[in-house]
Amino acid sequence: MSPKFQSYNQQQNWLFPPSIEELIPKDHPVRIVNGVIDQLNLDVLISEYNKEGKPSYHPKMMLKVMVYAYMDNTYSSRKIEKAMRENINFMWLSANQVADHNTIARFRSQRLKTIFKDIFKQVVMLLAGEGLVKLKEVYTDGTKIESVAGRYTFVWGNAIKTRKVKMAEQLEQMWNYAQQIADEEDKDPNPPNFKTIDKEKVEQTAKKINRILKDNPKASSKHKAKARYIEKNFASNLDKYQEQEEVLKGRNSYSKTDPDATFMRMKEDHMLNGQLKPGYNVQISSQSQFILHYTLHQQTTDVHTLKPHLETYEKLYQTLPEIVTADAGYGSEENYDHLEKKGITAYIKYNTFDKEEQTYKSKKRKVKEDFHRDNLHYNEEQDYYVCPIGQRMNKVYESERTTKSGYKQLNSIYRAKNCNGCPLRSNCHKAKGERTIQRNHALERHKKLIRERLTTTEGEKKRRQRTADVEPVFAHIKYNRNFKRFTLRGIEKADLEFGLHALAHNLKKKVA
Ligand code: SF4
Repeated sequence: MSPKFQSYNQQQNWLFPPSIEELIPKDHPVRIVNGVIDQLNLDVLISEYNKEGKPSYHPKMMLKVMVYAYMDNTYSSRKIEKAMRENINFMWLSANQVADHNTIARFRSQRLKTIFKDIFKQVVMLLAGEGLVKLKEVYTDGTKIESVAGRYTFVWGNAIKTRKVKMAEQLEQMWNYAQQIADEEDKDPNPPNFKTIDKEKVEQTAKKINRILKDNPKASSKHKAKARYIEKNFASNLDKYQEQEEVLKGRNSYSKTDPDATFMRMKEDHMLNGQLKPGYNVQISSQSQFILHYTLHQQTTDVHTLKPHLETYEKLYQTLPEIVTADAGYGSEENYDHLEKKGITAYIKYNTFDKEEQTYKSKKRKVKEDFHRDNLHYNEEQDYYVCPIGQRMNKVYESERTTKSGYKQLNSIYRAKNCNGCPLRSNCHKAKGERTIQRNHALERHKKLIRERLTTTEGEKKRRQRTADVEPVFAHIKYNRNFKRFTLRGIEKADLEFGLHALAHNLKKKVA
């Protein structure tokens, strides 16, 4: 008996050709994308299209394809074009139209660039309308994502400063040499100030040095060559450094192949050598693992990103969250102050919070901690501290410090008397002379409030929830979706690229 097979005939004709839609299951994620984007108002996007010339692909179709591609982990425009040709889900979304990869790339990087935040907001508002998220409470965190830039294309701010100092030193050395061998009429009793150099000063000084050395028999050929080199290169080098400093805008580094990217330490260090890589600091605010807001920053630390992140949140949604929970990387006087002024309740640890909690649990360390400045009695009315033996520590001066972002912090300095000979000296402090303590009263007030808030049942719940809310979002995007490096160059395009990932993440989460 021969084996039995089902009928196989590739030439079989359909009596009624099936529609593609019938082939897509009712609960397939592609239907969610289609349904959500059908509800969006795309008037602004549509208004940007030219009214003349060859008809364009409909932006609604292009947007559906783009968002679904990101949900499907298909990011390259060539792969999206292929999917529009071969993948039934893409074919259904595009109604069998196939845009070429250049059109897809242009739609992503040019058409969506200015409008995408509004599209993202509309989707979040739809989620809010369905009761899946509330805008009033967010969990904020950041991660570093590598830029598309080359890894060895760095320009370092500190290196520029060092080179400028070296140039000034070399110029001064050459000046002194020239003056030693100069004829009487070329001697200059008023040498230039080499502490600060600019292009004009370098040009004039180099010219003068060369004039003295040129036909001077006392000048060595080595010094003559060096003087010629200085005249030829130093002024143009200064121009180059100035241009680089303008790109740096206060940062310490940038990449030559993506000047918006800053060199940062990444968690994903596949070579395990702690090497800095060009990238962006991505900040998100999430709730119930949905991303409500995202921003890209060029700073390497999170502490200065919270304020601009919340400012753009307010601009986007015309409201601010009432509660913000974040990790200790955001705990600073400036941030606490800003949140307080905006009426936002902060559940944000300060950097010594965990250590303090452990210390109170450890008896051994408790003895030492009795001498800690936090445990000294403070007389607020008369503004003095009482040291462990009961003596007054009077305020000796105040010092003001301005942070990178321009925020002013005030520190008060208090000093004890007669520490030498005190029986508690060995336990109290190790510094020579009298004990001095420095206090930032504004920060201490915030820390007290935060400590009280974080140690309540609600505070503990928020701390636990933070790790279950915002951290898995990054884990999902970076490890499950394998997005560890941007493919678009420049902060604006990288912002759009992350936005597409964030939108795809939200829709995937909605499907789940
Ligand atoms: S060492 Fe100085 S600060 Fe410490 S208890 Fe003695 S007097 Fe006070």
